[in-house]
Amino acid sequence: MSRPPRLLLTTVFGPYGIRDEYAEALGMQMELFNNQITREQGVHSPRTNFWTFPLYFLAENLSSVFTTVLDFPTWEDFVRELENEYTHVGISFIQPNVLKAKRMARYIRNHYAQTKIILGGYGTILPDLKKIVPCDEICRGEGVNWLREYFGEDPREPIRHPIMHGVAQKRIYGFRDIIDDSAVIFPGLGCTNGCFFCSTSHKFDNRYIPLLPSGESVFDVCHKAEELLGVDGFAIIDENFLKMPDRARDLLAMMERYRRPYSFAIFSSAETIAEVGVDFLLRLGVCLVWIGVESERCPFSKTGGINVSSLIGELQAKGITVISSSILFLEQHDRVSIEQEIEWAIALGSDLHQFMQLIPFPGTPLYSKYVSEGKMIPDFPYAKLHGQDELAFYHPHFTSKEAREITRRAFRKKYNADGPGVLNMALTAIRGYQRAKEDTKLRERAGLCWNPPALRYERSATYQPDEFMNLRLEKMRERALEFRPLLLSARLFSPNKASRNKASRVATLYNKVFRRPTLRERARSFTLVCLAFIEWSRIQLRRLVSRRDMVRQPSTRRVCYSPCSPTFCEGKSLNSLQPLPTAISGSRSVSQ
Ligand code: SF4
Repeated sequence: MSRPPRLLLTTVFGPYGIRDEYAEALGMQMELFNNQITREQGVHSPRTNFWTFPLYFLAENLSSVFTTVLDFPTWEDFVRELENEYTHVGISFIQPNVLKAKRMARYIRNHYAQTKIILGGYGTILPDLKKIVPCDEICRGEGVNWLREYFGEDPREPIRHPIMHGVAQKRIYGFRDIIDDSAVIFPGLGCTNGCFFCSTSHKFDNRYIPLLPSGESVFDVCHKAEELLGVDGFAIIDENFLKMPDRARDLLAMMERYRRPYSFAIFSSAETIAEVGVDFLLRLGVCLVWIGVESERCPFSKTGGINVSSLIGELQAKGITVISSSILFLEQHDRVSIEQEIEWAIALGSDLHQFMQLIPFPGTPLYSKYVSEGKMIPDFPYAKLHGQDELAFYHPHFTSKEAREITRRAFRKKYNADGPGVLNMALTAIRGYQRAKEDTKLRERAGLCWNPPALRYERSATYQPDEFMNLRLEKMRERALEFRPLLLSARLFSPNKASRNKASRVATLYNKVFRRPTLRERARSFTLVCLAFIEWSRIQLRRLVSRRDMVRQPSTRRVCYSPCSPTFCEGKSLNSLQPLPTAISGSRSVSQ
């Protein structure tokens, strides 16, 4: 009789961000911010790792298979875990980690020949993957349906969304708990915009696959997370969340009905924001938005006809942090125009900016074009396919290796021009709070109410005070205050005089909007300066001794999901939920 299936879902092994025979250091830190947003900002750079959320999502949605999720294992953790007699091991990886996946798969083949190996994640787009990594199956698209069918379960079963924090480890100036915790929401996969370079869009055939199709389903997850984890902020992992505007409208309606002013960090393209308007984003509780502005020279339909500079300005003026991102080394770029693009991106004045090199990922129209034109560099190492180092293709004006220095300089320029990203975020938060207070008063005086179908404030014959906006204002106030203790460190470790002056101006604005800092707040600021100094020394020492930028490795997490067990979430029972609007569906047993 065959054994019941036991599945291990694992990420690739650490350490991360360290160059060895399996992976690179630059661009591979498992730290989104320090890797490619606040790169070159030294001690000001938030050091954050995110849990590998899709693995928990997959585990949660298998009902008949004992499943373990192993997140950020060391090699020793991985080897030890295999002793638990798994029938199947799923390895999730991105392209630059393919050699780590290879080592893991080989080890399984050599020591557990009966165990089936399943590969998943963005690494599966590599055309010669089967030749590199020994495996039995490759899951290339949406994984829940795939795994359910593979294990003989019904793919039409409702989707269960795990309730969990998104951040594995977070430090700002070396301090752990400076910004409030948030949970993660995974409403859907893919994007219909189909930008020519975009791996995400083309991996899912330019389709959007909703996992949480309605505003109500998103609200349910928020409510559970609030009850179980005590959070009211959420990172929405969806390439273009507002592309389904009705879902977002319904989510707002639910929050208004139940007086829950949750806040969200989202990804959105510019045309989608323009469609729904910044006032809607603010009311919805978007506190951070990542927008791909891509390029001034190369036209994209998502930015066509939109003044991205004023859109970003309006978002920030209303208190919404903007991460913009642009692409370097497009075909249109030569030595002059690439500098102009960098200047343009910096002049947008976003709080944070990602410079990403053009990467022809397999599966995209860009890749097909470059292959047919013979532009791809033969045998370019996949480990370097991360967009922060060398180019994987022949560019008419730049050598592959030059790209590294130009990219590094772009980050440096942004840092020198605008100062630390966290300082910009503080400025946006305080200005936004100030403005939102004034706007709310003005609307009250003018008798304007929120009109949901029109997505704007309008004069109404049945005027009611805007209770929900007052709740939202309180959240904005709390968010602005979270940044306050950072200001002294931002000033003392400033890269230049302009940045120091900016930090002083922001501190003055805080004093004006709130009051002068209390003794407790001052003590917190000074503690942070001490920690920042320790962190700064640690970074310098690490660079001196090992030329590495990794300060800490994320710790390993192991979560087991048993079929047919009572419901738990990060150690708490879903049964403890206070009843709110709709039936809350169950969740599988989780133990750590
Ligand atoms: S808008 Fe963003 S997610 Fe959508 S296809 Fe373009 S780059 Fe990809």
